Amino acid sequence: MKNTTLFSSSPVITDFSAKQYSFLQSAGADEIKKHQTELFLHHLKFTVNNSPFYRELYKDKKIDLKQIKKLSDIAHLPLTQKSDLASTKNFLCVDNKEIVDVCLTSATSGALPTIISLTSSDLSRLAYNEEIAFAMAGINENDTMLICAALDRCFMAGIAYFLGGVKLKATILRSGSGSASQHWELIKLAKATVIVGVPSLMYKIGQHAIDSDETPAATHIKKLIAIGEPTKDESLNLLPIAEELEKMWGARIYSTYASSEIATTFCECSARRGGHLRPELNILEILDDDGARVKDGEKGEIVVTPLGVTGMPLIRFKTGDISYLINEKCSCGRTTKRIAPIIGRKNQMLKYKGTTVFPNAILACLEGNKRFHNGYIEVKKNKDGTDRIMLYAALCSANPDKNQDENWISETLRAKIRVVPEIKIIGREKADKKVYQFDKKRKRMTFFDLR
Ligand SMILES: [Zn+2]
Repeated sequence: MKNTTLFSSSPVITDFSAKQYSFLQSAGADEIKKHQTELFLHHLKFTVNNSPFYRELYKDKKIDLKQIKKLSDIAHLPLTQKSDLASTKNFLCVDNKEIVDVCLTSATSGALPTIISLTSSDLSRLAYNEEIAFAMAGINENDTMLICAALDRCFMAGIAYFLGGVKLKATILRSGSGSASQHWELIKLAKATVIVGVPSLMYKIGQHAIDSDETPAATHIKKLIAIGEPTKDESLNLLPIAEELEKMWGARIYSTYASSEIATTFCECSARRGGHLRPELNILEILDDDGARVKDGEKGEIVVTPLGVTGMPLIRFKTGDISYLINEKCSCGRTTKRIAPIIGRKNQMLKYKGTTVFPNAILACLEGNKRFHNGYIEVKKNKDGTDRIMLYAALCSANPDKNQDENWISETLRAKIRVVPEIKIIGREKADKKVYQFDKKRKRMTFFDLR
């Protein structure tokens, strides 16, 4: 098999239609390594030769590319932080005239969003990436997909899902950032079979239907592709919100992991035991706090080198997300390792009585429960250096009883994660205002770090 078209030696790659790397999903570890090494060395050479940022950095650090020969040599290369991307121009590897699309990534708190410039080849790569990700979840040309992610406002996700779905020859409903009732009407009208969106929005759509005396499970929806928010705990068990969604829609939920910088989506297969790695599209490492690679099964930060990107290619990008790799046989027959659910953001890690916990793990215990409406977490620093964690929760009951409600929350949290922060019961309106203050259509704001 020839391996020249997908990532040719030309800086602009135009052919992502070839699926010549699909065999890697069932290849042995040595074969995967062989092909990945080839792609990695090509990516490295192209990036360091063309990116002012990496050229400077490697010169400073006296890195000789001739010494980088094996895949494991990647450990000798410096890591790239999100803050490095602030100066986008330094990362550009092609002429401005090659740039066809500009995406903005979500900013880290306080900072401006970062620009990611894409070539037409990067768009093809994105489409290829998403096509294979959807196919991984068993979606095909017979499906009608409701895409609840904005195609406008320079978001990468919406355009990636659209292009990927088109490439898969599925029928796409560009529902974007419509309201719950608009999404619901479209699901019925066009007989959608798949929803792609954040779980909290899928829940809102379903609840809207139920409130109007209709039944989400009676629609044609069979698959829910969850983006942006967790649906599983670290042991791969469905979170209450995901269980509720499956019941509500009579559908199977698939979790995904993706980000604009890594330009790759990891989607679960039919076995739904983590997202299969994509060896032809990236090198994924899990590193400890000292930057050393951890063993499969051990938790650490996900660091990704997205292969084949030509506009703003990156090397060893620190995602800030914590997870681990699963290296066990998958019942779907693929041999690639899998990435477990995202346990949390590295900078959101909280210290609680000698143990660590992530804010999303606390909220996940409550979300999807009929009694829980909405809530968020605030963290401050105690004088002794430990974290003071406060959970602000709004419940659904019309006549709330603060003591009873607090007891119910603390019992639920104790039983599930053995972590009970300070609990404050607040009104639904107050909770919604805080959680949806920035961007009603995209992700909710549920964590406020005041440390
Ligand atoms: Zn599998």
